[in-house]
Amino acid sequence: MVLGLIQRLLGDPAEASLLAEVRAGGASFHRVVFTRNRRVMVSTGDAGKTLRLHERFRVAPPEVWRAIGCVVSGKSERSRLLAKEVIVAYLRESPPQAGAPRRRVARTDEADLARLVVEFDRVNEEYFGGVLPRIPLSLSGRMRRRNGHFSTHPLEIVISRRLCRGAEAGEAEKTLRHEMIHLWQHEQGHKPGHGRDFRRWAEKLGVHPRATRDVTWACDAPQG
Ligand SMILES: [Zn+2]
Repeated sequence: MVLGLIQRLLGDPAEASLLAEVRAGGASFHRVVFTRNRRVMVSTGDAGKTLRLHERFRVAPPEVWRAIGCVVSGKSERSRLLAKEVIVAYLRESPPQAGAPRRRVARTDEADLARLVVEFDRVNEEYFGGVLPRIPLSLSGRMRRRNGHFSTHPLEIVISRRLCRGAEAGEAEKTLRHEMIHLWQHEQGHKPGHGRDFRRWAEKLGVHPRATRDVTWACDAPQG
């Protein structure tokens, strides 16, 4: 909606923070373009104005972006080697995003996941200007205390299966929006937490500002 339009006009805030980190690493670019070319993970184009990065770096932590800046800058061989190690370690640890085979989804989870994906896309477009990457979403039957979980390694959102099936309509979506705020924080290069920026988003998205909250259960919650 309006926020999305403004963000598109001003440029992608995630892209701006990426370029700022690259600059801190020693290399300056006007813009970044993401590619799916697996053989060339990092390259430059447009007479050195454009940084071309593989999709997988879109969600990398800031230190990896800085390392990319260091590798493409004319810095000493030694610092470039160290930076390369940071990048290689990231690629080794983080699962490929684009085009990667997703974890197999249980038949019985399909309907719940489908409606959560619809909610993800809606909130991403309406509130976050579409800047959030579509990361893997799954259900877990092992959550006892928590309703959902956002993790960076691997980058994913997990929602309690029990919440999807036993809680009142809208509860799972609320938890998803909570985890999406953490994804936004991560995208901005911030550590996911429940501080001031979280509370600001929570209010906008109709999410409870605390990490734990009471859930309205529709019936006796099924186990697992
Ligand atoms: Zn949280």
